[in-house]
Parts: sequence; structure tokens; C-alpha cells
Amino acid sequence: MKRLPVSVALLLVPLLLLSAWDVDLSLAAPGGIVSVVSHEGDELAGGAELRYQGRTLSASEAISTEESYIILLPIPCDLSGSLIELYVRDAGDALTSLEIPIAVREFIHEEIPLSIAMSELRQSDDPRKIEESRRMWELLGRFDPAASLAEEVLILPVGEARKSSSYGDRRLFIYTDGEKSRSLHYGIDYAVPVGTSVAAAAGGRVVLAAERMLTGFSIVLEHGPGIFSIYYHLDALAVEEGEFVEQGDILGTSGMTGLATGPHLHWELRINRIPVDPLLFTARPFVSSGTASSLNVDTDP
Ligand SMILES: [Zn+2]
Repeated sequence: MKRLPVSVALLLVPLLLLSAWDVDLSLAAPGGIVSVVSHEGDELAGGAELRYQGRTLSASEAISTEESYIILLPIPCDLSGSLIELYVRDAGDALTSLEIPIAVREFIHEEIPLSIAMSELRQSDDPRKIEESRRMWELLGRFDPAASLAEEVLILPVGEARKSSSYGDRRLFIYTDGEKSRSLHYGIDYAVPVGTSVAAAAGGRVVLAAERMLTGFSIVLEHGPGIFSIYYHLDALAVEEGEFVEQGDILGTSGMTGLATGPHLHWELRINRIPVDPLLFTARPFVSSGTASSLNVDTDP
């Protein structure tokens, strides 16, 4: 079975009409988003957040587009089948809440034995690695209201290349000393030969183009307030920080720099720091036109 069942209720009523704003639940699945849309900026002035058992999962303020105001709230990949809560606050500080069922999605489990060099790299507490991780966390938390929003659907950065890992894979790393550690795979890996051209998934600004210890030559593009795509393990970079790129522009060539057990491109999409499934946004843009779309979660590796 390759297609997973999604709550019938979600498919029938992806757009819930509330008092003055709409909620688009068509991507309410692990790795998806909940979108809150209003034509009145005041209605969303206090921002919105998703909570699970009292804990904030994601929070954001509104992005203004030509037609409306929209808040994108990412859903982490470990909430399959959960019931979460949406809170929206208006300019008058009035709070509205809504319960949202998250669709069930299954993920792949994989074991990855690491070489001595890869074990050392992953287990190392080198200050450079810690500083690079801190800088990335800071960068991905940026919400620049002036950042222009990419309106196109994403294209695949290396075309129809074979996927070697999927978004949300549950990984067990096995180190050479026998130690093990669990981690979630936050992006998609494409097995492509070193030197393959890597294209920008959407137009945006290059906010990071640098060599990092764990991820090798790395690029981060900003596609709107709080929206970033990430490209890791490149062999060479063709863009510089601060540059604007169009969709399809070549960012560099793929490689196996950093912690990589073979040549591949790791491609990731973050919204307000949370990793979401990039493939969901190859079928519809970040801000949808309001037409209901059904959700198909593909679990092929
Ligand atoms: Zn990866």
C-alpha cells in the first residue's frame, strides 16, 4: 500500500469557514502546514500558534500578500494521528481556538552504520560544529516581513533523480564503538553523482553559502518570511550570500562533503524553523489560492 488513508473529514472540509478568517487544513499532516487566511490584517494581528498537550509546536505572525494576510504554521513530523490545537489572536487580543486532527502518516525506519571518520564527526563536540549549529538555528528563526514570498510551486533541485532517503525517516546511527543514536531525517536525499547541477527549488535570496563541518558545502535560500530551502553536501558553490536567485538557477554542484556515506544531495524545507516535507509544496504553493486540495502522502523511499 503506497497511499495512506487520510481522515475523510479532512478531505471533505479542507476549508473551515470561521468568523473572519479561514483555516486551510488540506495539508494537516505530519510535515505539512495549517494555513490561516484573512482579508483583514487586524484579524490576525496577534499571530497564531499550534499547540499539542499544552506545548507550543509552532507560532508565527501573518505574511501580507497582495490579496490577503496569511499565517503558515508547520506541523512537525512526529505528530501522526494526533489532535492539536490552533490558537489565533486578533488586534483586540481576542483568542480563538480550534481543534485540528492530524492525518496519520507512516515513516520508514533505517539503520545506518557509520565509519570511524563519520562516527568521530557526528560524536564530536568541536566548538566550530556547535557555533555552526547555533548560527543555523538563528538564521532559520528569522522572520523578515520584507522578504518577498515565492508564489511558484517548488521544482526538484536535481530533477527526477532517485531518492535514497525520505523526509521523516526514523534513523538509527550505529557508531564504530557500538554506541547508537536515534535521529529523524529532516530532508530528502537524492542519490546523484558528484558534479550534478543543483537548481534553486524556488526564487529567493541566498542567506547562507558556506562550508560547514557536518553538512559540507551548504546553501540556504530564503523564499519568504520564515521560509527556507536547504541544500547540503555540495561539491562546489556557484552563488554567494546576499545574491537573489530565480527558480531553476544553478546553486552549485552536488557532492559528498561533510557527513555523507555516499554522493547525494540533501534537500530540506523549513518553515519557522520546523522541517516540513518539500514534496508537499511541489504540488501547491506556500500560499494556496484557497481551492481545496486533497493530501496524498507518498511513503516510497
Ligand atoms: Zn539527508
